[in-house]
Amino acid sequence: MSTDPSPYLDPALRSWRDQVRELVQSELVPLSAQIEREGRIPERSLALLRSAGLFGTHTPAEWGGLGLSMLGSCLAIEELAAAHIAFYYTCGVNVHIGSKAVEHAGSEELKRRFLPPLARGEMIASLAMTEPGAGSDAAGIATSARREADRYVLNGRKIFITNAQIAGCFTVIARTDADDRRGGLSAFVVERDRPGLAVGPAMDMLAGSGSFHNELLFEDCAIPLGNRIGREGQGFELALLCLDHGRTHWAAWCSGLASEMLALAQARVASRRQFGAALAENQAVQWKLADLATEVHRGRLVAHDAAWRFDHDPARRRHWAAMAKLANADMVFRVADEVLQLFGGYGYCRDHPIERMWRESRVVRILDGTSEMMRQVVGREAVRPPRDAGAA
Ligand SMILES: Cc1cc2nc3c(=O)[nH]c(=O)nc-3n(C[C@H](O)[C@H](O)[C@H](O)COP(=O)(O)OP(=O)(O)OC[C@H]3O[C@@H](n4cnc5c(N)ncnc54)[C@H](O)[C@@H]3O)c2cc1C
Repeated sequence: MSTDPSPYLDPALRSWRDQVRELVQSELVPLSAQIEREGRIPERSLALLRSAGLFGTHTPAEWGGLGLSMLGSCLAIEELAAAHIAFYYTCGVNVHIGSKAVEHAGSEELKRRFLPPLARGEMIASLAMTEPGAGSDAAGIATSARREADRYVLNGRKIFITNAQIAGCFTVIARTDADDRRGGLSAFVVERDRPGLAVGPAMDMLAGSGSFHNELLFEDCAIPLGNRIGREGQGFELALLCLDHGRTHWAAWCSGLASEMLALAQARVASRRQFGAALAENQAVQWKLADLATEVHRGRLVAHDAAWRFDHDPARRRHWAAMAKLANADMVFRVADEVLQLFGGYGYCRDHPIERMWRESRVVRILDGTSEMMRQVVGREAVRPPRDAGAA
């Protein structure tokens, strides 16, 4: 009987997953404590990620990426999740929410200029959507893009923008029509060095040392008309498209991190002795491990299912992406909390990996749309009779 948790994967995908696992476990996992301490990823490990193609897992080969299916891309992210979260923020978010609008709706010129360097990790992209007054309610975006002859002029403020500090370009969602909430938003590429664009200092957060989340300030920032992505008014749709990619990948990240934490717990209960026996000898501990293993297995299936459906049922990927992120964001935090408990006081110490993982796992219920917003997306279908909802 196969001990592989995903024997249904075809051999090429399993071999790809194993290749990434080897890289992550041998080169990246050992760096996690250092990144947490020093607040930066060593350049050498970024070079390894670049040469493995991890900045462009899901970018088509014609634009310099690996051109993997969504499942192939998610398998890589599952493995990457075993290492410090800064790695995922740096190379994964770049591909999944930073570059997807250009890939799907950008002009040939925009694709040619931005996609190859992004896929190779020579440039980082961010998605700049959230504002102080528009978080969950993204249609409330107030940053304006005023059209003037041969250019757009941007004014406004963005917040929480992942990688802004190291980004070479931004996909910015801004308002071109004040009278149409959703249909009045458009998407633009804004290069980092455009006059009128300022990046604020990194925000101090619960976790994610070594990654950056900043404010952006646009003050009469002029960009050419050719920097618009897609049609005027297509911005909301493109932002959601980016988030479908992001949510599907976050579900995989949760699965990978949960699996890594389970492995830590298994090793701990086998080696830690109390009352004259290994913790694993206690039935209460065995049952806890049974619940954790079941949660992790279910989370992996949910993540793989959403990734597979992303490619095979594109019309409904928003639904499946939201459901997978909703399920796995809760799952990974529950697993983190139980595993920390199994480590007792040691798990609560700053220098222990589970303490960091516990903090890292909390963010998935917030970013790329909160769990409450995921329920709104899933709820739209959940309240419909099965016949209308299609073969779910
Ligand atoms: C680490 C991190 C990285 C991020 N990276 C990016 C990025 O790269 N680009 C980007 O654009 N944004 C980014 N964000 C922003 C993120 O997407 C938002 O934080 C998120 O969408 C929630 O918005 P908000 O924080 O304004 O919360 P709010 O919208 O103010 O929500 C506060 C609470 O109210 C709930 N709520 C709101 N409306 C309703 C409702 N109608 N019904 C029920 N509950 C509701 C929410 O679910 C939440 O629990 C990032 C955030 C974090 C923390």
